[in-house]
Amino acid sequence: MAKKIGILGGTFDPVHIGHLRSAIEVLEDCELDEVRLIPGAVPPHRATPMVGAQQRLDMVRLAVEGVAGLSVDDRELRREGPSWSIDTLVSLREELPSQAQLYFILGQDAFAGLPGWHRWQEVLLHCHLLVLQRPDMPAALPDALQQLLQQRQVAHHSGLQGPGGQIALLEQPPLPVSATAIRGALAEQRNIRFLVPDAVRDYIQQHGLYGAIHSI
Ligand code: ATP
Repeated sequence: MAKKIGILGGTFDPVHIGHLRSAIEVLEDCELDEVRLIPGAVPPHRATPMVGAQQRLDMVRLAVEGVAGLSVDDRELRREGPSWSIDTLVSLREELPSQAQLYFILGQDAFAGLPGWHRWQEVLLHCHLLVLQRPDMPAALPDALQQLLQQRQVAHHSGLQGPGGQIALLEQPPLPVSATAIRGALAEQRNIRFLVPDAVRDYIQQHGLYGAIHSI
């Protein structure tokens, strides 16, 4: 059987339970062999992270330690320059057996911005897209994506066939947690317990990240 691998990119500044629960639910719903969390170095589409690459990577490593099916892939941090998804996909493909199924996991908001990505039309050559649908997100999509959905969408994720090239939507309400809110809470010395794994919280405190005071 061909391996089924999910990839979840992000800045993870810091990683939190929203990312982790989402990864586990996709792993189970789509019966994947693994989901790799891939922290980005220089995010092309957003502001520079508050915390450096190595510490964001350390936190993701701590978060997935001992969690069956979740792992960390640090290739974007080993590369110079912006973390273009297309480069990540090409380099994954160079390593994986050609029949491996790659599921690129992205939220509906990220999917809506796909036509702005570097070499976006090549993305589906390397993977399937698994778009997590949010009940609160507007349904409107640019024409280019509506066309793409007409050509590539399968009715259910279980219908994704082959190494890549298709799109499935997966209903997944997100937990109301964001890295932005966690950074804000830490700057105000609020307790972030249960929003991130305890090991990540300890790391943030030990290193005084995001304005956290050591003793909280
Ligand atoms: P920020 O608040 O700094 O923008 P974030 O919390 O959205 O960060 P990212 O690192 O930007 O986190 O997100 C990485 C991926 O995780 C994205 O695909 C994003 O849609 C998804 N994600 C973020 N928060 C949640 C959540 N609460 N539930 C499910 N998925 C999430």
